[in-house]
Amino acid sequence: MSDPNLHPLFLGPYGENDALLEKLVVEFLRDHVYWRRNFHPEDPPAIPTRAAQTPEFQAFEARLRRELHQLSASLKRSVPFHSPRYIGHMVSDVLLPGLAAQFLALPYNPNNVSADAAPVTIDMELKAGLQLARMLGFPHDPAREDCAFGHLTSGGTVANYQALRLALALKAFPVALRAIAPPGMTLPCDDWAAFNLGATAATDLFDQWRCWVSRQPGSQRRHWQARLEAERIEQLGLSGFFARHPELRTPIVLAPVTAHYSWSKGMKLLGLGAGQLELVPEHGMRMDPAALEATCERALAERQPVLACVAVLGSTEFGTIDPVDRVLQVRDRMLARGLGMSVHVDAAWGGYLATLFRTPEGGLRPLADMRQVHADFPSREVHDAFAALGGVDSVTVDPHKLGHLPYGAGAFVCRDQRAAELLSESADYVFAPAGADDFFSRFRQLGRFVPEGSKSGAAAAAVYVTHKVLPLDHANFGTIVAESIRGAEAFRQAATRFKLRMAGRLRVDVPFEPDCNLVCLALNPAGNRDVAVMNGFVRRVFDTLRADPRLPLQSREFFGSITTLKPAALGEADTARVMRALELDPDLLDGDREGESDRLVILRHTLMNPFLLDEENGISYIDGYFDFLERECDRLLWTQPEHRIPDDQDVA
Ligand SMILES: *Cc1c(COP(=O)(O)O)cnc(C)c1O
Repeated sequence: MSDPNLHPLFLGPYGENDALLEKLVVEFLRDHVYWRRNFHPEDPPAIPTRAAQTPEFQAFEARLRRELHQLSASLKRSVPFHSPRYIGHMVSDVLLPGLAAQFLALPYNPNNVSADAAPVTIDMELKAGLQLARMLGFPHDPAREDCAFGHLTSGGTVANYQALRLALALKAFPVALRAIAPPGMTLPCDDWAAFNLGATAATDLFDQWRCWVSRQPGSQRRHWQARLEAERIEQLGLSGFFARHPELRTPIVLAPVTAHYSWSKGMKLLGLGAGQLELVPEHGMRMDPAALEATCERALAERQPVLACVAVLGSTEFGTIDPVDRVLQVRDRMLARGLGMSVHVDAAWGGYLATLFRTPEGGLRPLADMRQVHADFPSREVHDAFAALGGVDSVTVDPHKLGHLPYGAGAFVCRDQRAAELLSESADYVFAPAGADDFFSRFRQLGRFVPEGSKSGAAAAAVYVTHKVLPLDHANFGTIVAESIRGAEAFRQAATRFKLRMAGRLRVDVPFEPDCNLVCLALNPAGNRDVAVMNGFVRRVFDTLRADPRLPLQSREFFGSITTLKPAALGEADTARVMRALELDPDLLDGDREGESDRLVILRHTLMNPFLLDEENGISYIDGYFDFLERECDRLLWTQPEHRIPDDQDVA
């Protein structure tokens, strides 16, 4: 049975809940209009009541309608993300509470840059940050000094950039403080030590400095603040800062080979350069902690500073989950030896999986409880990774991915809000001095802290309301994610049946056991040993699984996506294993030949639609997909003779 709790949550694949959404949209649009009228009811209508009867008005309306009809018609060529036949990228139907809240808030047009422009939705954004903090296991009581702070961004890309900015600010601040040496403060002994304090100690030092400077008399306080500002990396720029501290080098950032390309973008944007992004080898597309430690050892020996280590919680291409707990152990060991770094978790994809690990009371759900519900999820390693989240310095989560919310909603959450002040910017015309110094008063001037300026308050309302209706624990929001895990487990089993069924026609392999709800599939025509031939075959299969604006949407049965496995990223052992499973010739895997022969093209499936297994109607879209794949593969094998290897041919 599909979980009845899910039935009211979405507009639905068939638009089943249209009446509810329509009622809400109309009700709250009227409500908004009354609000306008009640502002100063004594003001007469500025647009005359007869205006709508004039020919100009009617001509305008006709033009508008014409364009809207065209827009509506062309949008019919959109990708049907809502359908359980869509198992391509990281998107599915949007949650009805989020959609309704967004529609409701749009005509008010709040700007979450500051409380002046968004007296209501800005607090919702800060509370949404706290809701996410609770889900991740960070301190989330705003009365606590060390409470977490989270805000929304346009997406995971900007959240990752914010993580880099904060890590750099925290790393360089102690060096700047040492340079001005405020009397009476205890400071690191040299620049290397100051640059390697680690995020927690750097946050503490920043806090001590703020206490120290607040105790100085007025004119002295400004003098010391100005001196510090002049030494900060944000003021000097990278070249000025490192020229002043010649014993320090530009720091590197460590990330797994699966890292999203936003990390390279962020490195360029920050001026560190993509060349400073060092990819750590993996095991089964999960970061190898031993390799991480070896990389850190080498950095320490070479006195090469490390800004941050990124762990990915749900890699974009494979859904694999890095061992966050082991990464933290490496961080602690290296810190003890004098190499400090921040740890950021890129959970743009997997962040909302954390709801499954959270009890309604806020505690961590034991592995045994979870394994009573799911066959294979989570593995012990995955449970350990989620259990460790509270110890990392910051996290990226995308409400517009597994949070099932409309686009324009990413999030950045840092564990200790005291660090955020290092990012602050002042602009007198936007930000009045905060009155009280509590959590909300401080961060209501949100534009001071975030990369963006003007930003959507309606998006914040959508995230906040959704989290209120569906709290971020396993009994509420988790029911949606659980359905997605169920879909992935069904897909994994169906892949095994498909493999057996296709024996003799096709080699089928799931190159990595999935950690969550992304499953990849490698397909090779039986008898073929050439990588380039296999890749051509998979690309032709994919041609039947992608949007084609020239064809009617209905001509597509299913939607999928593809990715590639590159030997350099995959490592020798995994490459050999996958090549063997597909019966490919390892000598034909190289970049020097014609065609695409330096990597393996594979199908990728994101199983996040909550209605993949429709027991009510006795339909499994997953079984339907594999039946479709069988038909398409057979068709290609017969119509593309180069894919058909006669039985008697010597293929060796
Ligand atoms: C999607 C994704 C991003 C980028 O997020 P956007 O919202 O597309 O900007 C970053 N990291 C990971 C792991 C992702 O899956």
